[in-house]
Amino acid sequence: MEYGISTRCLYGNGEENQVDRSGAVSFPIYQSATFAHKGVGESTGYDYSRLQNPTREQLEKVVASLEYGVDALAFSSGMAAITALMELFSPGDHIITDCDLYGGSIRLFDNISKKNGLTFSSVDCSRQGHEEFEKLISENTKAIFIETPTNPMMNVIDIEKLAETAKKYNLLLIVDNTFLSPYFQNPLKLGADVVVHSGTKYLGGHNDTIAGFLVTSSPEIAERLRFLIKTVGSGLAPFDSWLILRGIKTLGIRMERAEKNAGRLVEWLCQEKKVTKVFYPGIPSSRGYEICKKQARGFGCMVTFEVETKELAHRILKDVRLIHFAESLGGVETLITYPITQTHADVPKEVLAANGVTDRILRLSVGIEDIEDLIKELERVFYV
Ligand SMILES: *Cc1c(COP(=O)(O)O)cnc(C)c1O
Repeated sequence: MEYGISTRCLYGNGEENQVDRSGAVSFPIYQSATFAHKGVGESTGYDYSRLQNPTREQLEKVVASLEYGVDALAFSSGMAAITALMELFSPGDHIITDCDLYGGSIRLFDNISKKNGLTFSSVDCSRQGHEEFEKLISENTKAIFIETPTNPMMNVIDIEKLAETAKKYNLLLIVDNTFLSPYFQNPLKLGADVVVHSGTKYLGGHNDTIAGFLVTSSPEIAERLRFLIKTVGSGLAPFDSWLILRGIKTLGIRMERAEKNAGRLVEWLCQEKKVTKVFYPGIPSSRGYEICKKQARGFGCMVTFEVETKELAHRILKDVRLIHFAESLGGVETLITYPITQTHADVPKEVLAANGVTDRILRLSVGIEDIEDLIKELERVFYV
């Protein structure tokens, strides 16, 4: 029998802990770089923590279970995970990416992956018709890389439909699932091959640890990724693994509460005259609403909005007190971000303009505060 998702946040698939026999309810932190052998060829299953460490392994089991993967690998950051993932490809390989991606991913592809001989085409996967999309596919195309909802414009991409195209042309479909977290969306179940997470965000959930994950439904890819993590050495440290394990325990209740808050803030923003646009897939008239409803169990806690003027945007960022003006997302504290100078600072100007990321766009990562306090904070900063 399969556990429900909130139970899996605590116990993964419920496999008995083979490592620690103490009965500890909180999985111990194995702060050890190396592990002793009883004799030649006799390993406890752990040799050296770059390869594997019991605490990291426990975390990986929980995340694999949340995303329905055959395996999950925990990295020192989301970017370390994506960097390792790019090592699956060879010079000359071509990857199609959605145009509205996390700025750090665009920076990696533009500066490191291209240097290593990979080529990229970027399209709006939420708008692209099937035929137009297929025109981009060449003999060298190996993968499609997307996020949904996208960052920061909250476009929704139909994962199942894209997975069909990927299968037809034998391409890997990679989905960065950071924004909805496994609590609301499971891309592998919809046909994706690899899921990426910045564990720094909802999985960790407390704005206190940097981490990243790759989860896959393919045993063959899992084996190649295992080789990569031990070879490049970007696995997550034991203590940080423990912090993310602890964060995940409350993923369900955090997501429920933050999403409820987000819904209320969206209502407030939609009636506010100085707000010219609100981007949130939970708005029934929004382009992504139906697809998001079909493929996810929630609309998430990220809200992007546009205000009347750049001056107002800057004033809001200066005046917030309860809400922090800070990069990142997915924690219990509500953060407000200015994509154009923060998360997307290294994205080419033309790309930002095409996506509608202007100097009037602000992004909220809604936390778990009392909703009345968040609304009072918005009322104050709009009218000081
Ligand atoms: C933050 C983020 C990343 C990068 O993760 P880090 O943990 O900061 O390295 C990748 N994708 C998305 C969608 C993110 O929000």
